[in-house]
Amino acid sequence: MLNLNLIYKIMYKEYGLQGWWPINGKYPGKIKLNDKDIFEISLGAILTQNTSWKNVDKALGNLRENKMLQINELRLIDIRKLALLIKSSGYNNQKAKKIKEFIKFLDSRIQINRENLLSVWGIGKETADSILLYAYNKPYFVIDSYTKRVFSRLGFCKEDIGYDELQQLFHDNLDHNFKLFNEYHALIVEHAKRFCRKKPECIGCPLNTKCDYYKKNYENLINE
Ligand code: SF4
Repeated sequence: MLNLNLIYKIMYKEYGLQGWWPINGKYPGKIKLNDKDIFEISLGAILTQNTSWKNVDKALGNLRENKMLQINELRLIDIRKLALLIKSSGYNNQKAKKIKEFIKFLDSRIQINRENLLSVWGIGKETADSILLYAYNKPYFVIDSYTKRVFSRLGFCKEDIGYDELQQLFHDNLDHNFKLFNEYHALIVEHAKRFCRKKPECIGCPLNTKCDYYKKNYENLINE
């Protein structure tokens, strides 16, 4: 078994509980979510496609200020007005359409599972898994560019590994526990921002003794 648990433990010790997903601009670490929370998390998962959380937070704040962060209001709002309210998140015309399609899906009362979510226009694997994990507490490991970057450098996979293959690696080597998957993904994001950036800060990185990239690039330091 690959030691993904050890990597988790090291990151958790270093960064502590992350308490994802952010709701109303905060990280409450809530597991028992109400319908409003679930809806806000799902919207956030759509809005965060190809942009930073800072921009999503602005868009969600705008919706909140305009009393539009609720399904009943968003169902009725004109799509062009919605696009303006979420402008900060980028690709806003497309995202407004995605939100409308998502609401249609919720209204259809079709079962919320991965297959059905993936059939909604504008919802890909990362968004579907984020919704399932963070809004519905289902154990789907979320893969993103940070996960690929960190785990390829550590030596667990190739840099160009596909979404499904990398997700399988986590599913095969960890307990299927949504709390663990929730926290693990959040810790990866934190690690990628603090140390494993595009240009990594390997000296001082808490994972460097476990890392192939470090071994390759800092061999002299290790052997000194
Ligand atoms: S040692 Fe460097 S490459 Fe390896 S995980 Fe840390 S920051 Fe990333």
